[in-house]
Amino acid sequence: MEKPGLRIPLEEIPPEGLHLEFEEGGELLRDCFFLNKPLLAKVFLKKRGIDVKAKGHIETTVILTCDRCLEEFLFEVNEDFEVEFRPQASMPLKEETQLTREDLDVVFYEGDVIPVDELVREQVILAVPHKKLCREDCRGLCPRCGKNLNQGLCGCENRKTSPFAVLKELLGNKKPNP
Ligand SMILES: [Zn+2]
Ligand SMILES: [Zn+2]
Repeated sequence: MEKPGLRIPLEEIPPEGLHLEFEEGGELLRDCFFLNKPLLAKVFLKKRGIDVKAKGHIETTVILTCDRCLEEFLFEVNEDFEVEFRPQASMPLKEETQLTREDLDVVFYEGDVIPVDELVREQVILAVPHKKLCREDCRGLCPRCGKNLNQGLCGCENRKTSPFAVLKELLGNKKPNP
């Protein structure tokens, strides 16, 4: 379901710029994350020739799953951003059009419309770390019994879940550690 008002036709941006502020329930990011509270976004658009500068702020809390212990945790997003939209026609002829950290500041738009919805969506995705840990020192799950070691130790012998202990396990070496 596309929300009107989040894709801004160029002619609707006055010379002095356009302030947008909206709250979004999570539909924008529904295929990536669940939100724990609505996404608040502020965007200021200003034309500069055929380019459009967008400055803004996003705020929300996303629900992530820890890579180590598989528990859900909350991650707060509170980011400022600044990007520049350029017409698609000026895009360099490269296959690689994916937004990466390096060319984060330039986004290409199609037609005469600035996709503020996509911009905000991408900013949230970029704000979430690749490595999702509920806390820096998450102890993960016991490789033997699967217990969440953040909640206390299990009764297993290889409490120290060093990679070697895991490897030994995989190789079928059942000898206890000396
Ligand atoms: Zn964890
Ligand atoms: Zn265990």
